[in-house]
Amino acid sequence: MQKIRNFIRGEWAEPASGQYVDNFNPSRGTVYSWIPRSNSQDVELAITAAEEAFPAWSQTSVEKRVAILRKMAAGILTRLDSLALAESQDNGKPISVAKSVDIPRSARNFEFFADAVTQFHGETFMSDNGTMNYTDHSALGVVACISPWNLPLYLLTWKIAPALAMGNTVVAKPSEVTPMTAFILGEVAQEAGLPAGVLNIIHGTGPEVGDPLVKHPKIKAVSFTGSTATGRSIASGTAHQFKKLALEMGGKNPNIVFADCDREKAISESVRAAFSNQGQICLCGSRIFIERPFYEEFRKKFVEQVEKIKLGDPMLADTQMGALVSKSHMEKVLSYIELAKIEGGKILTGGCRALMTGELSEGYFVQPTVVENLDFRCRVNQEEIFGPVVTLTPFDSEEQVLEMANSTVYGLAASVWTTNLQRAHRMAKKIDSGIVWINCWMLRDLRTPFGGMKESGMGREGGMEALKFFSEVKNICIAMQ
Ligand code: NAD
Repeated sequence: MQKIRNFIRGEWAEPASGQYVDNFNPSRGTVYSWIPRSNSQDVELAITAAEEAFPAWSQTSVEKRVAILRKMAAGILTRLDSLALAESQDNGKPISVAKSVDIPRSARNFEFFADAVTQFHGETFMSDNGTMNYTDHSALGVVACISPWNLPLYLLTWKIAPALAMGNTVVAKPSEVTPMTAFILGEVAQEAGLPAGVLNIIHGTGPEVGDPLVKHPKIKAVSFTGSTATGRSIASGTAHQFKKLALEMGGKNPNIVFADCDREKAISESVRAAFSNQGQICLCGSRIFIERPFYEEFRKKFVEQVEKIKLGDPMLADTQMGALVSKSHMEKVLSYIELAKIEGGKILTGGCRALMTGELSEGYFVQPTVVENLDFRCRVNQEEIFGPVVTLTPFDSEEQVLEMANSTVYGLAASVWTTNLQRAHRMAKKIDSGIVWINCWMLRDLRTPFGGMKESGMGREGGMEALKFFSEVKNICIAMQ
């Protein structure tokens, strides 16, 4: 059985504890590798390595840093097949999705920030009082990058790439549920010639690795993506240290469909928005609000399309939906389906664990599930399920749907479907979320600010926002006379 190891100072390291924990293949329900059970001693070693690597890396020319980032992108693409296989085995997602989305985007993250950092610059201000001010951005030092299991390499590299581009050194902690592609990233870094200690990757649990990492006084900034509960614990646990935090957290995103929309497109894209990656994307539209004149037609066609989704072995090329990431997550999702029934919901399709045969019989598969007849204030409509469960709710006016859309503690993303331009702008302005898609879902431009409002996020990632986050700005004022 394969043993994953930590990556410290450019080398593979056993955990200080000498212990390993099981890593599951969720579509088989079996253990297929072991993850280091690291602790604060491993974190200390990684931070020391990163601290010692910082002076040289932060003074390396942008040109040289960019060349290494590009080699990392190329190294990921060279391993497209093996990384896609690893991501699919670790996470349960269809291999076709890992191959067409997760892994190419991970390479793109390095390419994008390699380009972006060459365009990054300060500002100058010629002032009335006879001074000139200019701003200077410098790297922070050692930063922590912590990522979740739903888009493992995609989100980890989305943090590591801008941090390295700006000249920081990194201690990364991937999710303990999906560690394999982060393990392979160490190999990519070695091959690309990234100097030892510039990127360190420590595997293990949140309490045993993440917690001591974020609280360590030498960590200057934490870029975290994960649940709101963990984000809250990081914010409160580090508040007295005033370190920089970027927290990308949970969502319960509204998908608002007006009767005047392009109906066929709204239905098929709403299916995609609900069930992509088994509904395990923070941006999934899990609460669908449909204007009443369109409700019956939408419900019928939506359910018909959901029932055609091909659920099956993630390793097969034509599979559209794979397994949920873990047994405990599957149990959580199933418990919300039971709650939906208790809260008065009517299950229109799905509603159960999907029982598979052969190799997949122990896998964590849940049928894509559509529920209607729930109050917008009930728990199923307020709490993040993060699985293949979606609710349908009719509405009668813009005011009413805005109240329902904005009623949760979250504010990450929203979609609005309408051909009325004024209404589209009006809704976009009034919805409480960091991203509003009009007549589309999850079309991303990496230059745009990404993040959430309310309990979905603090700070923004993406484009220049990420480069600003991973740097300290200083204003220099010169008397000109
Ligand atoms: P999680 O919060 O359980 O774990 C995320 C990461 O934090 C893991 O690496 C984990 O080990 C680590 N961690 C756990 N406790 C920690 C602690 N006390 N200190 C430091 N690190 C700790 O989240 P998850 O279950 O892996 O991911 C699912 C969640 O991620 C969902 O809520 C989803 O909405 C969210 N998510 C948000 C975005 C976004 O961009 N807003 C993107 C993807 C996923």
